[in-house]
Amino acid sequence: MAGYTVAIVGRPNVGKSTFFNRMLEQRKAIVDDVSGVTRDRQYGVAEWNGKNFNVIDTGGFVPHGTDIFEKEIRKQVLIAIEEANAVIFVTDVTTGITDLDAEMADMLRKTSKPVYLMVNKVDNHQRSLEATEFYSMGFENIFFVSSISGSGTGEILDAVTANIPEEESLSSIDDEEKDLPKFAIIGQPNVGKSSLLNALIGTERTIVSNIAGTTRDTIHTRYKLFQKDFILIDTAGLRRKTKVHENLEFYSVIRAIRAMDEADVCLLVLDATQDMTAQDLNIFSLAARKGKGIVLLVNKWDLITDKQTNTARDYEKAIKKRIAPFSDVPVLFISATGKTRIYQAVEKALEVYENRKRRIPTAELNEVMQEALKAYQPPVVRGNPIKIKYVMQLPNTSVPSFAFYANFPDEIKEPYKNYLENKLREHFGFSGVPIRIYFRKK
Ligand code: GDP
Ligand code: GDP
Repeated sequence: MAGYTVAIVGRPNVGKSTFFNRMLEQRKAIVDDVSGVTRDRQYGVAEWNGKNFNVIDTGGFVPHGTDIFEKEIRKQVLIAIEEANAVIFVTDVTTGITDLDAEMADMLRKTSKPVYLMVNKVDNHQRSLEATEFYSMGFENIFFVSSISGSGTGEILDAVTANIPEEESLSSIDDEEKDLPKFAIIGQPNVGKSSLLNALIGTERTIVSNIAGTTRDTIHTRYKLFQKDFILIDTAGLRRKTKVHENLEFYSVIRAIRAMDEADVCLLVLDATQDMTAQDLNIFSLAARKGKGIVLLVNKWDLITDKQTNTARDYEKAIKKRIAPFSDVPVLFISATGKTRIYQAVEKALEVYENRKRRIPTAELNEVMQEALKAYQPPVVRGNPIKIKYVMQLPNTSVPSFAFYANFPDEIKEPYKNYLENKLREHFGFSGVPIRIYFRKK
């Protein structure tokens, strides 16, 4: 199921991030391969038993050692219950059941979603005897784990993945819908996502149909706009707003993840009255890491009153600096409430959608790239000249991916890879699209 999300909740120091890192271990090579984005410790994509799912470590969102942390943790548990598909509740055998554990357990027992109680730090036999105390919490799914050694982690992952529904069979999705571009509006709370959605929906004639997914928790709305046909993905609740958890980063991230997974292109909304924040950047990196097309929409542009000729240009420059090295992304200045340039935003998203699907014929690709290879050759390593013989675009990838065949593929370093990426972008137009570059032995 696209976008299945598992939240890890628990007090500080019970071992959430240790477990999280262990879950993502095997995938590191893959996530690191995406151009120009950094890893962070809060969320990632895990794979187990052939199933992919999103994992969020809520611990990464709580500042340790503040006296508000208990309140924050309670809020996170509520959000996790509402927004995630399943929850892993981590406790610590060495401390036993604390008051906060008991309180969280009370909240978690009320949900019908799967909850997996993980008793962590069960490193030896003695501790496995002590761990039986946790049966008293009354969870059906209970697992004794040592995140440090890895013992028991397989069992809990088996149980979690067993509950992930299979992909919707293709026949159950409208055949027509399958081939239409899918866009998601994402961003932090209050940047204007629902206003933008409403501005687009407000022109009722453009809506063709609302397609409620059977196993998805998003709403797909089909549009026909200026002869363009596309689908806007809406996390249920973008329209019906609950202002409760608004300002928690965890909330915007979990929302963004859900919308993103089913989308081809993400419209990332920013607030013109504020500088791009670390949270914006987190959401941007996540979309890039997932290989989604991206259009940046600087909203509330109407609120910038003393606009000079350079204002937009300077703002765009500042953004591009923040998102570097993946800065080949369209930036538009819009007003959702004033309906300024919102259709251009859709046009731009369609362009990025086309860019993401672009396939470069091998002959043309080599002709152009041979020039680039000649103009700036890879550095010599230990007396060996590195020779890149040819390049091809890999077939059947959702993200444009290129394999360069070389005599010493492992010796080609990041700066040279960036150079090649820039040349590909210069010549073939991949604006808004993350691209992947691999070096292979020839
Ligand atoms: P978080 O605050 O819940 O994310 O907890 P961390 O993952 O940062 O772990 C807190 C401490 O517990 C660290 O010192 C970890 O090394 C330790 N820890 C985590 N898992 C285990 C485990 O399975 N056994 C033992 N003995 N220590 C663990
Ligand atoms: P969301 O949380 O991202 O869905 O944000 P909302 O759509 O609820 O917008 C948050 C606030 O910003 C509301 O008060 C909107 O009226 C306001 N807002 C949204 N877009 C614009 C805009 O383009 N210009 C101005 N001036 N205000 C806007």
